[in-house]
Amino acid sequence: MNKLSIFWFRRDLRIEDNHGLFEALSQSEKVIPVFIFDTDILSHLPSKKDRRVQLIWDALSEMKEVLKTQHQTKLLILHGKPTELIPSLAKSTGAEAVFINTDYEPATILRDQTVEKELAKSGIQFHSFKDHVIFHRNEITKEDGKPYVVFTPYSRSWKKKLTTEQTQHFNSESLLHKLTFPEETRSFNLISDLKQIGFESADVSISGTRTQGLNFLSDFSGRIQKYGDLRDFPSKKGVSYLSPYLRFGMIGIRECVRMAKSGSSVGSEKWLGELIWRDFYSQILWHFPHAVKESFNPVYKNLVFPNDEKKFKAWCDGKTGFPIVDAAMRQLNQTGWMHNRLRMVAASFLVKDLHIDWRWGEQYFADILIDFDLTSNNGGWQWAASTGCDAQPYFRIFNPELQSERFDPDGTFIKKYIPELKNVPAKFIHCPSMMSESDQLLYKCKIGDNYPEPVVNHKEAKVFALELFKKR
Ligand SMILES: Cc1cc2nc3c(=O)[nH]c(=O)nc-3n(C[C@H](O)[C@H](O)[C@H](O)COP(=O)(O)OP(=O)(O)OC[C@H]3O[C@@H](n4cnc5c(N)ncnc54)[C@H](O)[C@@H]3O)c2cc1C
Repeated sequence: MNKLSIFWFRRDLRIEDNHGLFEALSQSEKVIPVFIFDTDILSHLPSKKDRRVQLIWDALSEMKEVLKTQHQTKLLILHGKPTELIPSLAKSTGAEAVFINTDYEPATILRDQTVEKELAKSGIQFHSFKDHVIFHRNEITKEDGKPYVVFTPYSRSWKKKLTTEQTQHFNSESLLHKLTFPEETRSFNLISDLKQIGFESADVSISGTRTQGLNFLSDFSGRIQKYGDLRDFPSKKGVSYLSPYLRFGMIGIRECVRMAKSGSSVGSEKWLGELIWRDFYSQILWHFPHAVKESFNPVYKNLVFPNDEKKFKAWCDGKTGFPIVDAAMRQLNQTGWMHNRLRMVAASFLVKDLHIDWRWGEQYFADILIDFDLTSNNGGWQWAASTGCDAQPYFRIFNPELQSERFDPDGTFIKKYIPELKNVPAKFIHCPSMMSESDQLLYKCKIGDNYPEPVVNHKEAKVFALELFKKR
C-alpha cells in the first residue's frame, strides 16, 4: 500500500467508474487528484475560444464542486508541461506512485513514457490502466497473433471475448475519503479560471459535465431500439450524441457497453457495433502508428492530389453548391459536431469530388470537432478516402445528390443550416442549380448570388478521381 499517490486525470474526466482512480485509491492511503492543461496540446489549438477546452472546463468544474461539497477535498488543476509538472508534483509531495488510465495515441504514448522515465529516476512508480476502451493493444488478434485490419472478424472476435470482466463497474464511492490536497501543493500555480491559461469561454450548445452526459445516456437508452432505423437521418433524433463525453471520459465506455448489452433489440446490437468501431480504430493506430501521417494502405501512399485551395475554402465554409455537403460543414462550423452520415459524405466529397488530400480535411475536422479523437478521425478519413484499412473501395464514390435524397429526403436538415434555401421545394433541394430563372425568382434563391453554383460537376469529378486512384 502506498502512503501517498497521485491520480492524473486526462481523458477520463469522471470520478465514478474510473479504473485508474479506483486502483490508485485501492492501492494507496491517500491520493492527490490532478488535471493538467497541457501546454503542448493547447498551443496547437486554432482558437482561444476552443469548444473542447470549454467542455473540459465544465467537467472539471463539476468534479471540483462534487469533491468540495461531498468529500471536503479539492481537485488540483495545473497548467504547463506534464512531463515536468507530474514529476515535480510527485517529488515535492513525496508521492510514491502516479496512476493513470492508458492513452493509445503515438504522441501521448511518448509523453507518458517520458513521465515514467523521469519518475523512475526518483524511484516513483508509474501505473497505467485500461479505461478508455474495452479491449486494447494485443487483446484481440487473429489466430496468428497479428492484428485485425478488417472490422467484421475483429468485431466477431471482440464479441466472443467479451465477459463481465471487461465491463465491470469500478466503484470508488467508499474510497473517496482518501482523496487529499496536501500543503505542498500550494506552491503550484492552481488554475481556477480559463483566463489563467489564456482561453475564453466558448459558445457550445452542450455542457461538458458528467451530469449532462448522463442525461444524454439516459435519453438515448429510451431510443436505442430505434437506432438502426434512424441513425442515418441527420434531421431525426436517431443517434446518441455521446461522442464528446466518450472522448473526454465524462461517460465511460464500460457504461455504454453495459447499456447496450442490457437491451436485446436490433438497435442495441447495432449501437454496440459502433462502440466496437471505436475500439477497432484505437487498436489500428496503436499497431500501425504510421497511419497518423500516411496512408494506412501503402498502395495509396503516393497519391497526388491537385489540392485546389479555393475549392478547399468553399468546402470549409459550406459553400460548394452541394446542399448536403454545405449543410454538413455549416453544422460542424456552428456546433463543433457533425452527424456520422454527413462526415462520410463530406469527407468523400472533399477527396473524390474536390480531389483534395484527405489530410487537409482530417486536420480541419481535428481543429473543430468537439469529439475530435485522433484514432476515430483518422480511421474515418482514411475510410472515406479509400486509403485506410477496411476502407470504402476507391471506385465506390458517393453521389452527394443521391445521398441527400436518401438521407434528407425533404431537405429538413439542409434548410436548418442553409436558410438561403428555405423556400426551395423538395424536388430542387438536393440540386438547386437545376432551378430555372423563374423558379429561382419564385423561391427567392438566385443561384450564384444567394447560393453558389456547384463548384464541380460530380460526373466529371468522379472520372478524374478514378483516374487519380488508378495512376497512384
Ligand atoms: C470522416 C470521419 C471523421 C470522424 N471523426 C471522429 C472523431 O474525431 N471522433 C469520434 O468520436 N468519432 C469520429 N467519427 C465517427 C462518428 O462519426 C462519430 O463517432 C459519431 O458521429 C458521433 O456521434 P454519436 O455519439 O451520436 O454516435 P453514435 O452513433 O451514437 O455512436 C456511439 C459512439 O460510438 C462511437 N462511434 C460511432 N461511429 C463510429 C465510427 N465510425 N468510428 C469510431 N467510433 C464510432 C463513438 O464513440 C460514438 O459516440 C468520424 C467519422 C468519419 C466518417
